[in-house]
Amino acid sequence: MYKNANVFYPQDEMTTVLLPVTIGCSYNKCTFCSMYKDEKYSEVPFPAIEMELKHGYKYTEKVFLTGADPMSIGFDKMNKLLNMIRKHLPYCACVASYASIRSISKYSLEELSILHNLGLRLLYIGFETGRDDVLKLVNKAHTVNEAITQAKKLNEAKIPFNSIIMYGIAGKGQSVDNAVATANMINKFSPRSVITMNLTVFSGTELHKTIEKGSFIPPSGVERLLEIKILLENLEPAQPMTFDTTHPTNIIKIKGTLPHDKDRLIDEVDRRINL
Ligand code: SF4
Repeated sequence: MYKNANVFYPQDEMTTVLLPVTIGCSYNKCTFCSMYKDEKYSEVPFPAIEMELKHGYKYTEKVFLTGADPMSIGFDKMNKLLNMIRKHLPYCACVASYASIRSISKYSLEELSILHNLGLRLLYIGFETGRDDVLKLVNKAHTVNEAITQAKKLNEAKIPFNSIIMYGIAGKGQSVDNAVATANMINKFSPRSVITMNLTVFSGTELHKTIEKGSFIPPSGVERLLEIKILLENLEPAQPMTFDTTHPTNIIKIKGTLPHDKDRLIDEVDRRINL
């Protein structure tokens, strides 16, 4: 049954071995998201996962767990899963997965450290924005303070993570403020990278209905570029961090390491704004 499920994965994991763990989204309430709207949430049974592993590529060095938020299965099952991966894929040095602030909050620091030791080495997390009112607007299930607390916990557990943020999400006239707030949030922890997504309105979503009613107006392209620029200007990472806008939704494709490439990246955005 899980073989017919929708599978999404980050573009950086395009060539990674995929391992199905959950189907659909256990939350499924973000107003901008259409990915799993028609899919009932369920977990892939362990015998099926083990079967995938037994017939998988034994020599792979990396595995990506598929599902909207596989970490939502909880510590005991993650522990069992990672041990199973170690048993069947002895050369796998990195298990990567999507995760959410909500699911990470259910793990203690000790539990995360155990998972790190078992091979959990990269998470992709949708932070979206550093503004509580915008998080509420899009019905994301966390607050800015919760995001900071969970991100710091991951830093302490030594589990690298990519922060996915979405520009345009605050609406017309709000982009500058949103960029500053989002940078201020990210400056409080150390992600491996910031991956930007451009707000994209999908038909049938709650966000789409809000726009039709006129209660949310998306920002223009130039305002969105300005948001990227202000975000870049305000990001002050304590550790080198990748800044990546190459996901297909973006209106500009730039990538570099902060703080080293900050000026170059800002110049590239400026050039696009002036066009
Ligand atoms: S954005 Fe992520 S958490 Fe929100 S509904 Fe979509 S898949 Fe679920």
